[in-house]
Amino acid sequence: RAKKDGRSTFHFYEESLEQASDDKFSLLQQIRPAVKNQDFELYYQPIIDMTNAKVISVEALLRWPQADGSFIPPDKFIPLAETCGAINDLGKWVIEEACRYCASMRASGFTDLRVSVNLSVMQFKDGQLNRIVQEALAQSGLLGEALEFELTESLLIDETEQIQKQLHMLTMQGCTIAIDDFGTGYSNLAYLREFKASRLKIDRSFVTNICTSHDNELLVSAIIELAKNLGLEVVAEGIEDAETLAKLQSLSCKKGQGYLWSKPLPAKDLPTFLNKYLPH
Ligand code: C2E
Ligand code: MG
Ligand code: MG
Ligand code: MG
Repeated sequence: RAKKDGRSTFHFYEESLEQASDDKFSLLQQIRPAVKNQDFELYYQPIIDMTNAKVISVEALLRWPQADGSFIPPDKFIPLAETCGAINDLGKWVIEEACRYCASMRASGFTDLRVSVNLSVMQFKDGQLNRIVQEALAQSGLLGEALEFELTESLLIDETEQIQKQLHMLTMQGCTIAIDDFGTGYSNLAYLREFKASRLKIDRSFVTNICTSHDNELLVSAIIELAKNLGLEVVAEGIEDAETLAKLQSLSCKKGQGYLWSKPLPAKDLPTFLNKYLPH
C-alpha cells in the first residue's frame, strides 16, 4: 500500500516538474533572440534620502515585455540567462542603456542623478566587465561617479581574488559598490572590509516585518549598527508603509527604497516623479 501511494506521489511530481521544465525550456530558447533584438526594457526605482525625502539615485531593473502587454519578471529570466550564458550580452546592454539614460537625464537638468546597476557573478567571470563599463561611460559621456553597482554577498564569497581586482578597477573609475540583499547570503563579514563597498542594502525580507517581528527589528538594528561602525551607508529595501518608515527612522536608517514612494517606473515616467522629489 505504501508502495502504491509512493508511486502515485512520484507520478504527480514528475508531471509538474515536466510542465515547469517545458516552460523554462521555451523561455530559455527565447532569451538569446530577445537580447539580440533588444526586446528588454529598463525600469527605474528611486532610492530616497529619508531625512529630507529627496531622491538620491535610481536603481535600474530589467523587464521583459511580452506581446500581450505583460512582462516576465527578472527573477524568472535572469537565472535562465545565467544558465545559457546570455547574461553577459544582456548585462552589457543594461550597463550601456543605464549610462545612456543617466547621461540624457543629467543633460536635461537632473545634473546629480546616479544610477544603480545590478550585476551577476557571470559578468565578473567573463573578464570583460571593466572594458564594457569604460566604453559605456566614454560613449555616453557620463562620469564613473554616476554609476553604482549592486552585488550580492554570494558573489563576494566566490573566487575572491579575481573579483576583487575587477571591483577595484571599477572603483578606480569612480563607480561605487553596494551589497544587495544584505543578510540573506553567507555571513562572511571579512569581505565588508576587503571590498570597499560604500553601501549595504538590507534585504526586503527583514524590512517588511520590522513592525511585527521583534527578531527582524533586532536584526535590522544590528545591521545598521554594523554598517555605521564600518563607515558604510545603509539602504532599507522594500518599504511599503509609513509605520515601517517611522520604525526605520527611529533606528537611524537614513536611506530607503520601496513602494511607499514608488514602484519601478518606465524611463519616460521618471522625470515627472523626480520633479516632485529632486530640485533642479
Ligand atoms: P533587487 O536588486 O534586490 O531589486 C529589488 C526588487 O525588489 C525589485 O524587484 C523591486 O521591484 C522590488 N521592490 C522594491 N521595492 C519594493 C516594495 O516596497 N515591495 C515589494 N514587494 N517589492 C519591492 P524586481 O524588479 O522584480 O527585481 C528582482 C531581482 O532581479 C532584483 O532584486 C535583482 O536581483 C534582479 N535584477 C533585476 N534587474 C537586473 C539586472 O539588470 N541584472 C541582474 N543581474 N539582476 C537584475
Ligand atoms: Mg538591486
Ligand atoms: Mg535587493
Ligand atoms: Mg534581489
